[in-house]
Amino acid sequence: MGRETNLIHGLPEPFKIKVVEPLVVPSPERRKEAIREAGYNTFLLRSDDVYIDLLTDSGTAAMSDNQWAGMMLGDEAYAGSKNFYTLEKSIQDVLGFPYIVPTHQGRGAEHLISRALIKKPGLLVPRNMYFTTSKEHVELQGASMPDVVIDEAHDPESMLPFKGNVDIAKLKKVIEQNGAEKIAFVYVEMNVNMAGGQPVSMANAREVSKLCKEKGIKLVFDATRSSENAFFIKEREEGYAKKTVVEILNELMGYADACIYSAKKDCLVNIGGFIGTRDIGIFEATREMVVTYEGLHTYGGMAGRDMEAVARGLREGAQYEYLKYRIGQTNYLGKMLMDAGVPIVKPVGSHAVFLNALKFVPHIPREQWPSQALAAAIYEDSAVRSMERGAVSKGRDKNTKENIFPKLELVRLTIPRRVYTNTHMEYVAESIIHLHEHKDEIKGLKMVYEPPALRFFQAKFEQV
Ligand SMILES: *Cc1c(COP(=O)(O)O)cnc(C)c1O
Repeated sequence: MGRETNLIHGLPEPFKIKVVEPLVVPSPERRKEAIREAGYNTFLLRSDDVYIDLLTDSGTAAMSDNQWAGMMLGDEAYAGSKNFYTLEKSIQDVLGFPYIVPTHQGRGAEHLISRALIKKPGLLVPRNMYFTTSKEHVELQGASMPDVVIDEAHDPESMLPFKGNVDIAKLKKVIEQNGAEKIAFVYVEMNVNMAGGQPVSMANAREVSKLCKEKGIKLVFDATRSSENAFFIKEREEGYAKKTVVEILNELMGYADACIYSAKKDCLVNIGGFIGTRDIGIFEATREMVVTYEGLHTYGGMAGRDMEAVARGLREGAQYEYLKYRIGQTNYLGKMLMDAGVPIVKPVGSHAVFLNALKFVPHIPREQWPSQALAAAIYEDSAVRSMERGAVSKGRDKNTKENIFPKLELVRLTIPRRVYTNTHMEYVAESIIHLHEHKDEIKGLKMVYEPPALRFFQAKFEQV
């Protein structure tokens, strides 16, 4: 876009709307009833009862006319679909990995990488924080995942520009204490989701890569949000302002032996994933296994048309103007809330704004699930759906069976890509600011049904 605007969110939407999906705001009576029926758990709401859905940014993007046009070119051949070669070329161009293995979504890639690189139980896979499914696949192979992210990633007030960085001293310590042969691989996540979408710097990726090479340890990136990470490098790291996002991505991915990728985020599609690698050993091992677990090595569980949409979406999602709008929109929501004194995690990341429930509803004791109560109150106020990320998600200690109360008790407002307008963001902010002004009226909850595993999905509550 030629002209710098003075709009607070930086850029107006860089697209116009061709197809619309009508939305209804349910009545206040229906909202009250719906959240009670859902046991005050936003996961159990029907999407029909939701006006603005900020549950997740995974698989919820709006595709472009270019992607939809590509869907019609789906070549549904069992073997050697032309869309596979288009996808391969797109990954080679945007990320620079010569070899690819397609999978049905990100966790398919995590499964194959973990199987290929974790050769026996008891090994370690250090990572900058963790992601639920990545951790699960590492643990299924009998390995564990020590956290080597910098301390600031756990602090909601720290304003560091690259809060997702690996703490090199922590990583060195894990390697030295256990010996390099005990490290199955080092896993580095781009734009760390669990820290609120906080990026890794190029300098940090370079340093991790150097250390891994010295020690003979493979380095794998979880590149799921690498385009959004590359945008932050361009904006914040010295020497990258003039480079294109694709140039930055090529350099960044150049430090890894392989990546796993959930296409449901930065590739602007509803389903898909892949492994990219420059390591022939990783390529051959995962390509051999993909046939057993996902599908033939030229579709890996995706339809031909899905591969075409991923191929086109990967290129679109790495365009600077798009990313500027995308991250600008998240920032816009965060800024409206901050300006009104609503406590959020800082700095605002790429894909979500996190409310700090311990400060928002300090009158609700932790045993009454403050984040869960706040997410339910937001829904009741405005039919906006968010997600609890606190003690309910954390679960119980495996040994003592006691509830764990983590340092962070958050509500996540996750923004789907290209789906909602900036006016929708204003509506969300208005509701949350209103609630913040009337926070004393928000009631705590009592858990009345608790599933044994991943309880946050299906737990039920009542108001106390
Ligand atoms: C979503 C996600 C995954 C898992 O991908 P799915 O497509 O949901 O299976 C892995 N890592 C990160 C960082 C993610 O956000």
